[in-house]
Amino acid sequence: LSQININKVREQFPILHQEVNGKPLVYFDNAATTQKPQVVIDALSGYYSGYNANIHRGIHYLAEKATSAFEASRKSIQEFLNAPSSDEIIFTYGTTDGINLISNTYGRAFLSEGDEIIISTMEHHSNIVPWQMLCEEKGCVLKVIPISDDGELLMDEYHQMLSEKTKIVSVVYASNALGTINPVKEIIDAAHSVGAVAIIDAAQATSHIKIDVQSLDVDFICFSAHKLYGPTGMGALFGKRELLEKMPPWRGGGEMIKEVSFDKTTYNEIPYKFEAGTPNIADVVALKTALEYVNELGLENISAYEQELLAYATDRLEAIEGLKIVGKAREKVSVISFVMDGIHPQDIGVLLDQQGIAIRTGHHCTQPLMQRFGIVGTSRASFAVYNTKEEVDLLVEGLAKVKRFLL
Ligand code: PMP
Repeated sequence: LSQININKVREQFPILHQEVNGKPLVYFDNAATTQKPQVVIDALSGYYSGYNANIHRGIHYLAEKATSAFEASRKSIQEFLNAPSSDEIIFTYGTTDGINLISNTYGRAFLSEGDEIIISTMEHHSNIVPWQMLCEEKGCVLKVIPISDDGELLMDEYHQMLSEKTKIVSVVYASNALGTINPVKEIIDAAHSVGAVAIIDAAQATSHIKIDVQSLDVDFICFSAHKLYGPTGMGALFGKRELLEKMPPWRGGGEMIKEVSFDKTTYNEIPYKFEAGTPNIADVVALKTALEYVNELGLENISAYEQELLAYATDRLEAIEGLKIVGKAREKVSVISFVMDGIHPQDIGVLLDQQGIAIRTGHHCTQPLMQRFGIVGTSRASFAVYNTKEEVDLLVEGLAKVKRFLL
C-alpha cells in the first residue's frame, strides 16, 4: 500500500481546490506541467519579498544572499542527479533550451558533413527540430530508431544503425505521448561503443524515476523544472565536464565572460560560460524547493503510488468499449494515451473539460509519432502524486457521458 498520505499531499496544492464548470477540478494534464505545492509558491514570492538582487556581481547583503541561494540550487540539482560536481549543472529555461544548447555548441563545433545523429520515433519536437536544423546547416544525417506497435523502441534496429559515423544519440527517457520508459542505459552504452555522445531528454522522467548520471554514464541530460512540481520556463542541463569544457559558448553577454575588450574576449569557466545574462533567479531558487519537496515524499514512493493509479486507470479505461490505449509498453510512467472509435480527441477534451476534467488532446508535440500510428492525435491522461482513484473513476464516468452525447 502507498506510503504517501494523499489527502495531506493534496492540501499542499492550492490550485486543486477549485471548481471548474461547476465540478471539482480533476487535473490529469501532468505530463504537460505539474501543479505547484505551496512551498514552491512561497519560495518564489519569498525571493521577491525578501532578497531580490542580481547575483554574482554585488557585494551587498541582498546580492550575496541571492547568489548563495542560486548556487545552493545548483548544488541541489547536482545531488538530485548524482552528478560528480555542480560545475556540470547549467541552468536553462527548460528541456528545449538544453537540447538547443547542445546542438548549437557541441553539434556545431564537432559535427560535420556525413556525420550521423540518431533519435527515435517517439521524440518530442524539441528533440527533433534542433537536430534537423543542425543537419541542414552541417550536412549531417538524421536517423530514427523505429518502434513496435506497443510503442517500444526496436533495439535490434538501433544497434544496427550505429557505426563510426554516429556522433550523437539523443533519446527520450520516458515518452510524454505514450509513457514508454526506454532502456536508456543500453542506449547510452551502445552509443559509447562507437564513440558517439549520448543525450537523454529526461523531461518526463525526473518526476517518476531516480536518475543517476554517473551510473548511467550519460554525456548530457536535460530536464524542465515545471514537470517536477517546480516553476515554468526553467530547467537544467547536466553535461560531463570534459565535454562542457571543450564546447564553445553559445549566447554571448554578461556573466559568461572572463574579460572583454574590443580586440579579444575570454570566456568564463563552466558553468558560467553557458549562462549569459541575468538568469531566472526566483525560479532557480524555487526549483531547489521543488526538489526538496520531491525528496521528502521520496521518488520511489511517488512512483509506486503513480504505478498503482496507472494500473487501475489502464484496467478501467480498457473496459470501455471502443476505447483503445495507444502505447502498451511493458514499462511506463503514469501516462495513458487513448483513442475512441468515431470520436475526435478534441471533442473528448472539450466534453471532459465541461465536467471539470483536464486532459490533453492532440499530437503532444510528437507529430511523427502520431504519423507512425496513423492517427491525428490522442487523448492523454497523465497522473501525478496528488491524483486519486476517485478521480480516475470520474474520468471513466466522464468518458461514458462523452459516448452517450456523441454516439
Ligand atoms: N521532451 C519531452 C519528453 C517533453 O514532454 C517536453 C515537454 N512537453 C519537452 C521535451 C519540452 O520541455 P519544455 O517545453 O519544458 O522545454
